[in-house]
Amino acid sequence: MTENFEDIRSSVRALCAEFPGEYWRKLDAEKAYPTEFVKTMTEGGFLGVLIPEEYDGSGLGLSAATAILEEIHQSGCNAAACHAQMYTMGTVLRHGSDAQKTEYLPKIASGELRLQAFGVTEPTSGTDATRIKTTALKDGDEYVVNGQKVWTSRVEHSDLMLLLARTSPREDNKKRHEGMSVFLIDIREAVDNGLTIRPIPTMINHATTEVFFDDLRIPASSLIGEEGKGFKYILDGMNAERILIASECIGDARWFIEKASNYARDRNVFGRAIGENQGVQFPIAKAYAAMAAADLMVKKAAQMFDAGEPCGAEANMAKMLAADASWQAADMCLQTHGGFGFAEEYDVERKFRETRLYQIAPISTNLILSYLAEHVLDLPRSY
Ligand SMILES: Cc1cc2nc3c(=O)[nH]c(=O)nc-3n(C[C@H](O)[C@H](O)[C@H](O)COP(=O)(O)OP(=O)(O)OC[C@H]3O[C@@H](n4cnc5c(N)ncnc54)[C@H](O)[C@@H]3O)c2cc1C
Repeated sequence: MTENFEDIRSSVRALCAEFPGEYWRKLDAEKAYPTEFVKTMTEGGFLGVLIPEEYDGSGLGLSAATAILEEIHQSGCNAAACHAQMYTMGTVLRHGSDAQKTEYLPKIASGELRLQAFGVTEPTSGTDATRIKTTALKDGDEYVVNGQKVWTSRVEHSDLMLLLARTSPREDNKKRHEGMSVFLIDIREAVDNGLTIRPIPTMINHATTEVFFDDLRIPASSLIGEEGKGFKYILDGMNAERILIASECIGDARWFIEKASNYARDRNVFGRAIGENQGVQFPIAKAYAAMAAADLMVKKAAQMFDAGEPCGAEANMAKMLAADASWQAADMCLQTHGGFGFAEEYDVERKFRETRLYQIAPISTNLILSYLAEHVLDLPRSY
């Protein structure tokens, strides 16, 4: 259907081989960020593939980016520490001014600046981002930001943050998604000047935090695009985000399937390989079929995105099907390993925990189903 990007895949595989299970297990135990891994991926040019050549990136499409993330996950690594750069950068590219693009994109491509953090979710708004309470109010040639975000991942390992804030109250706008704006904030200047970061310990090693804004003053030039249109800008990037995350799920599913197949061939119980039992084989085969079907949808969605076609339905279906396939494969892999699936040294329990996230973030399965019901099947809006 699409080019398979074999060259890119084999380069990514070779780099990932330098970061085996021991590396990720140690980070997990220490709750540490994979700095070396992110540095290697950045220097390999893989995080800048979507940045156009005129801004010193590779100028490749989303299909190439999905090949990179899939390979990272299929190799047993995890791209969550650095994938956000790929899609948050798109907001600056599509809606930023020429001055912002020239200032930031080449530095993001080279790794001199890290744009890994985006603050949309808030504790009280849930999935309904139109109800965010963080405000950015104009004061001369500055905005003053007040409020709180939650689940702002990688902010301690990023130089820049994309922030969604209300610049006018919800009640003052005709439509609920109007009156929000996007800002590109320099975290290094903001910390201790109105920005406080507090890590959130989680079941996976994800470097996620809650952030507090207390009269943080940012230059008016931090605004991306037009004031009040920020929610639309964020929505514009969501298809790319969903397709990229879906490719990570496909990579995870492939890892689980290979790991389970190897174990089923090698593990002898009752004097024969457990893989000789259909009760062990069939769940692996089912997981493979689910992954292969989801993979087709991911490739189709990426291809449509690259062709500039509307792909909301495909991007959402790709994310949901791939997340379901990776979770099915995770459960199967743990079961195939019996008790050893719980032992950290097999990496199964780590990947199991990691891939569970995709049922919830960046968008939960229910919200994808609601999207399909309303926008594809013309059923009444349920919320
Ligand atoms: C590890 C991690 C990292 C994250 N990183 C970031 C980040 O970097 N930046 C960021 O902005 N956000 C981030 N998030 C937030 C993430 O995008 C949200 O958690 C996710 O969108 C779900 O929102 P919520 O947690 O508020 O769930 P809620 O909206 O409170 O939903 C709770 C449950 O109710 C269901 N539900 C809600 N409304 C409906 C409805 N109308 N119909 C049916 N079911 C419904 C949901 O499906 C879900 O199962 C991260 C989250 C996690 C866990």
